Amino acid sequence: MAKSECLIKDEHMMLKQKSTGPIKGIHWQITDTCNYQCEYCIDRQLNRKSFRSGFSDQITISKVLDAIRQLPGSWQIKFGNNESTLHPQFLDICKEISNSRHTICLATNFSSSRNKLKKLIDICGVKLDFVTASLHLSQTDVEEFIEKSIWFNTVKNSHTEFIVTNVMTKENFDKLTLIRNKLDKQGIEFRFQILKDKGKYVTYPEEIEKYIEDKLSANQELLRSKSFFGKECYTGNLYFVIDLNGNAYRCYRMMKDGYLGNIVKGTFARYSEPTPCLALKCACALAVDNNLVLFRERRNIARITKYLSHSHVFDMKLRKRTIKRFINQ
Ligand code: SF4
Ligand code: SF4
Repeated sequence: MAKSECLIKDEHMMLKQKSTGPIKGIHWQITDTCNYQCEYCIDRQLNRKSFRSGFSDQITISKVLDAIRQLPGSWQIKFGNNESTLHPQFLDICKEISNSRHTICLATNFSSSRNKLKKLIDICGVKLDFVTASLHLSQTDVEEFIEKSIWFNTVKNSHTEFIVTNVMTKENFDKLTLIRNKLDKQGIEFRFQILKDKGKYVTYPEEIEKYIEDKLSANQELLRSKSFFGKECYTGNLYFVIDLNGNAYRCYRMMKDGYLGNIVKGTFARYSEPTPCLALKCACALAVDNNLVLFRERRNIARITKYLSHSHVFDMKLRKRTIKRFINQ
């Protein structure tokens, strides 16, 4: 094996080890469409009339791939939200990333054919870090989904972690526990996802809360209970979200204060350091999973006002509102 390949592989393996430092990553949204219409969809797929752009075009893809190639070190490039595998160039994009220093994570509704999934496995090899298959009970045949999961688990690369998730509602709780037990017997990890309502995590009836108490990852519990307002966060510096038109934001809270510019127009710039969070509630599981939030740092008004003076962030009303919020805390 050539030396460069070894180095890339070593860096990739280091990323997969349990890290306590920030894990560098990008969430790249290459489409805003989906072939499913789940009742709880946070991407509002139930309302097909809402404005949709479709798929990232060729120019945007090339520019974003160029920007990704220029990033220092190895980053996790995550595809999720809506259904990325529907993009006609999805496999080509994965091939380009696999040939770079970076790795790939995919969150999918698992509706792709086995043939397409096998091609993905072959193209990415050890560069496919994670595949998260979401089971949506109202949209898919459960038995077929379970069979496909078992098949995928046997043909995937041993470096790829495979997890099945499901958004839990009061109504589907009983069914999910049975599915979880079935997958468990096959050695496939199943994780409950907490339902979000208007961007916030919901609380379930007592019996469900009790059942999931020890089955939620620590990060989900943290996200549900805490506000990170004023805390320093590496998003914008070592993590960012790119929409299908090349606009980049520090995190999933795609607000003006987290805008990093547009990659196609050449206005994109990462922050040079962690910056304070201005959100009352964080809904980005990856911010905790990737160790991006500096929980131990004290909130600091000087850091907040410095951040609010940033050219993309500057807004007088936001400034007043944020300082008032800090004082009232
Ligand atoms: S599969 Fe995901 S993106 Fe598609 S409708 Fe369901 S929840 Fe929304
Ligand atoms: S909302 Fe979450 S991810 Fe975004 S800046 Fe705040 S803590 Fe970081």
